[in-house]
Amino acid sequence: MVYGKIIKGIAGFYYVHVEACGIYECKAKGNFRNKKIKPLVGDNVRIEIIDEENFKGNIEEILERKNELIRPAAANIDQALLLFAIKEPAPNLNLLDRFLVMMDYQNVPVIVCFNKVELVDEKEQERLRSIYEKCGCRVLFMSIYENKGVDELKKLLHDKTTILAGPSGVGKSSFTNILLESDTMETGGISRIGRGRHTTRHSEIFNMYGKSYICDTPGFTSLMLPELEKEDLRYYFPDFEEFEGKCRFNGCVHVNEPGCAVKMAVDEGILSKDRYQSYVTLYEELKNKKKY
Ligand code: GDP
Ligand code: ZN
Repeated sequence: MVYGKIIKGIAGFYYVHVEACGIYECKAKGNFRNKKIKPLVGDNVRIEIIDEENFKGNIEEILERKNELIRPAAANIDQALLLFAIKEPAPNLNLLDRFLVMMDYQNVPVIVCFNKVELVDEKEQERLRSIYEKCGCRVLFMSIYENKGVDELKKLLHDKTTILAGPSGVGKSSFTNILLESDTMETGGISRIGRGRHTTRHSEIFNMYGKSYICDTPGFTSLMLPELEKEDLRYYFPDFEEFEGKCRFNGCVHVNEPGCAVKMAVDEGILSKDRYQSYVTLYEELKNKKKY
């Protein structure tokens, strides 16, 4: 019996990475199909090899999923890595906050990593660290140019399946190249099959080494919000929590209510203006969505 992980699905074929062997092109054949379960990128599967020479096989069984994400469509995701540049380009904090809501909604822990950190001073780093640590994220600073923080980040990815997201220009390719070229990698050439050949509208996973996988997320800039009730959005802003109890009205959503402790905290500079601005933007978006 051979076990592997689905790293890509295209036009009825699933590409299954089998550790220390390679990538098998498989069709879904197992009886999971009767249960209307569709294989997902990230699925751990049992395959039957039908053509050893040409790396072809059938998926016989999908192993139980740890979790199942809707956006991006993927299974067994351990964590998400959100990569931004601290400068050039300046981070789009609204996009960052939107991503945090989406991941929190799907119970995926997030590492926020700011690259190009040699371009700013300590103070700016500490400012961002304090904002995002209060959101329950792990916050890292990295400079690929100066080789700072790179190893620390690599360690966090060890033996995990990690979604990688971030806008372009922040150093994503530079970073994935470091990962794919790392000494510890055992299946170098093979893992790169398909890179760049297909437009990445599908999720795709790359094996770095052993059991460490990275999942590329296409379409990051047009992130959709999950189907949330606008009144529930506040529960996805953990940094608001300590003020919430002090709002004048029970069930205050922190938008137009008088005596709102969250707004006061923003005015006093205790709570980040950017975070609050993101909250209001997302709130309005959810409100307008419900109208249709
Ligand atoms: P991607 O678009 O996110 O894949 O980003 P790239 O890896 O192509 O990098 C975008 C630009 O940022 C390139 O010109 C890189 O040389 C540059 N870059 C990458 N890492 C760093 C860094 O640590 N500091 C600075 N200043 N620039 C970097
Ligand atoms: Zn309030």
